Amino acid sequence: MHYSVLQILKNGLTGNKGWKPVWRNPEPKKSYDVVIIGGGGHGLSTAYYLAKTHGIRNIAVLEKGYLGGGNVGRNTTIVRANYLQDGNLEFYSHSLKLWENLEQELNYNVMLSQRGCLMLAHNDGQYDAMAWRGNSNLATGDDAVLMGREDVRKLVPFLNFDDARFPIRGGLLQRTGGTARHDAVAWGYARGADMRGVDLIQNCEVKGFRIEGGKIKGVETSRGYIGAGKVGMSVAGRTSQVAEMAGLRLPIESHVLQAFVTEAVKPVIDNVISFGMGHFYISQSDKGGLVFGGDIDGYNSYSQRGNLPMVEHVAEAAMTLMPMVGKSRMLRSWGGIMDMSMDGSPIIDKTPVAGLYLNGGWCYGGFKATPAAGAAFAHLMATGKKADWATKYNLNRFETGHVIDDEGTGARPNLH
Ligand SMILES: Cc1cc2nc3c(=O)[nH]c(=O)nc-3n(C[C@H](O)[C@H](O)[C@H](O)COP(=O)(O)OP(=O)(O)OC[C@H]3O[C@@H](n4cnc5c(N)ncnc54)[C@H](O)[C@@H]3O)c2cc1C
Repeated sequence: MHYSVLQILKNGLTGNKGWKPVWRNPEPKKSYDVVIIGGGGHGLSTAYYLAKTHGIRNIAVLEKGYLGGGNVGRNTTIVRANYLQDGNLEFYSHSLKLWENLEQELNYNVMLSQRGCLMLAHNDGQYDAMAWRGNSNLATGDDAVLMGREDVRKLVPFLNFDDARFPIRGGLLQRTGGTARHDAVAWGYARGADMRGVDLIQNCEVKGFRIEGGKIKGVETSRGYIGAGKVGMSVAGRTSQVAEMAGLRLPIESHVLQAFVTEAVKPVIDNVISFGMGHFYISQSDKGGLVFGGDIDGYNSYSQRGNLPMVEHVAEAAMTLMPMVGKSRMLRSWGGIMDMSMDGSPIIDKTPVAGLYLNGGWCYGGFKATPAAGAAFAHLMATGKKADWATKYNLNRFETGHVIDDEGTGARPNLH
């Protein structure tokens, strides 16, 4: 079914009885050309691009829970392309271009809102670093505006400029950055993949791999054995556990990251704003809630909820930056499992097992990557070659020393 104004009118006048389920609920087949493990944003977009761009239709996405129940449905929805390092620069630039056309591509409203992302600087050193970052973004063809303190004040006058522990020195604005509706992204890709014949199989946990002579043959699942010509892992926070079933030890640790939302208030925050002196970022949802997050809890965990010290830390950062938020009540908090790599950048690569591919290490930046990661992973699985926009996300870069440390914090997963 093609979604359109006419469909809405027709269904509105006929009791909304004409809408069809957005995807089928098929039984798993005995085998597939390609099996993708993980029905999050990345697994679904990979299946979509494998079918759409590469014409491979005999595909299953195996999801142990329900589609979109992982990090894709738990994140703070920030989309931007203002990274610094080679590798990340071209990747996120490409991803933002795919976002800009995603609603037309999927015929699905993913509610992309290019409301602008403002990163704040609180001292001269940070301000200089932002000039460097902004120039790199401009050189890659993305937008960046370096703003002095008074320009920032005009844009977001409610921030604490003067009477603050960390007074604001300036900021870097990317006008094309913003937010998107996270669930809709998963649902849109699921629908697009299903329409092209991909089997989306929920409640199907992968519990092991069948590997013969160093080559993948299939996966053991909670719904029986499924044969596969190729298998792709896109399991975010479970990456190291799933890879271990294939005998692989990866440079990835799992950590919990929390997010928070307040009760709905009238529109107050037009942009996405991130604090420079701590890990804190905030935007306002279409329903009016202030959505914000901070740093990972800082210890290894597979839990999907966090602890109070980080709640306090994030609330402190919020109050430091914009004391007005103290008046609103926090409604909910939740957590997701982050696949933290050693340098804070992801891996899209083959593994030492023939036919087994890896897409992981997305840390807390993988939502904005959803279109480009799926397209790059599909390209790799279909052609055996790296996509032009994702040539540097190699699994062996920790051996060769070609790390992509955008934060500059060193090889410590709990620090970036
Ligand atoms: C609180 C929070 C805030 C974030 N904020 C942002 C942000 O603002 N911007 C941004 O760019 N990124 C953000 N992220 C990161 C982003 O959400 C993730 O990097 C991205 O969603 C990961 O890719 P995914 O969507 O495929 O993961 P997921 O949705 O987690 O998908 C992985 C799927 O694999 C399934 N799975 C795991 N093991 C198995 C198995 N054995 N068998 C079958 N299925 C399995 C899981 O159930 C899950 O559904 C945030 C994350 C969190 C938790």
